[in-house]
Amino acid sequence: MNMNTLLIHGGIDGDKHTGAVSVPIYQTSTYKQSSLGKSSGYEYSRTGNPTRHALEKLIADLEGAKYGFAFASGMAAITAVLSLFKSGDKIIISSNIYGGTFRVLDKVFNNFGIKYEIVETRDLSLLDSKVGPSVKAIFIETPANPLMNVTDIEAVSKIAKKHNIYLIVDNTFMTPYLQRPILLGADIVVHSATKYLGGHSDLIAGLAVVNDDGLGERLQFIQNSTGGILQPFDSWLLIRGIKTLGVRMARHIENAQFIAEYLENHPGVDKVYYPGLKGSEGYDINSKQASGGGGMISFILNKKYDLKDFYSSLKIITLGESLGGVESLICHPATMTHASIPYDIRQKVGIVDNLVRLSVGLEDKHDIKGDLENAFNNSLRR
Ligand SMILES: *Cc1c(COP(=O)(O)O)cnc(C)c1O
Repeated sequence: MNMNTLLIHGGIDGDKHTGAVSVPIYQTSTYKQSSLGKSSGYEYSRTGNPTRHALEKLIADLEGAKYGFAFASGMAAITAVLSLFKSGDKIIISSNIYGGTFRVLDKVFNNFGIKYEIVETRDLSLLDSKVGPSVKAIFIETPANPLMNVTDIEAVSKIAKKHNIYLIVDNTFMTPYLQRPILLGADIVVHSATKYLGGHSDLIAGLAVVNDDGLGERLQFIQNSTGGILQPFDSWLLIRGIKTLGVRMARHIENAQFIAEYLENHPGVDKVYYPGLKGSEGYDINSKQASGGGGMISFILNKKYDLKDFYSSLKIITLGESLGGVESLICHPATMTHASIPYDIRQKVGIVDNLVRLSVGLEDKHDIKGDLENAFNNSLRR
């Protein structure tokens, strides 16, 4: 099946008992056992639930892998994946990464002796040289949050394989519709399904995907042991969102491309970060490994414009955390999504104070542009 068909018929399609075309919500904690030691295959919903199972099969199919696992949030999925490691292990992370991923390593896993090191993963020889004996995994995001840094997944997977360590890819920004890291050599893919996969800003969910049988068994064990599972209703909601991922992503890209080109030529913008812009730094590698630039744009607002006035002048674009919904959302990484990263690290990696991050939604692109134009006009200092 091709991707557009998989989105609708992948995983477990409908209900074999009734013919319902929508997977039923199995809102149950437990399952009747017909006799001692004889179950339907489901025994307790932390361990397994048919609605969640349908979603887990679906994300595995979409990523071209064998095993999917659904969690209560992206951070719960990342926490489960990081629970594969033990005291003394070190994980290399990209210099741009979701603030929460940095925070859980820095403030939680650090207490259990799991170390991290920030490395510019776009620099392949530097990355290769940083893999010492204690390094057990490389964790990347591409395009990375919030500067859209593009890392070459296939090249990094070769480095990981050479050192016999795992490559973990956070594929939240691209989704499997645009990029399938497992097929490029990644071992583990994680998602905040809260974003594009859910797509409607009405759900918090996370997914992890692996292809290796041993890894699949270990992650399933961790999922069941630590218990951060996605509930049946939310699993159903996410399946529902994923069905329209293809049409949504196509429009996200069309709108984002239009807005990125508008921003690139605006005097109020010093720099635009969007991997779909020809000639931009990550364009070539992104085009090689993904079939589009996605819907996320960051830009540096010129100092002649007042940052506060700019945000407060927007009427259609909503100021808020998160991304990937049908509505355009804007945020201020330095004080919002990336506030948990210390000031000096933020400066070093380029998350400056006048950086703006925009999740381009599915509204009419001319209305989004008009809203930005109005905000530029209202925030120009006189
Ligand atoms: C939002 C996000 C997360 C965390 O996911 P939650 O669902 O909010 O827990 C992880 N990675 C990226 C890239 C994100 O944008």
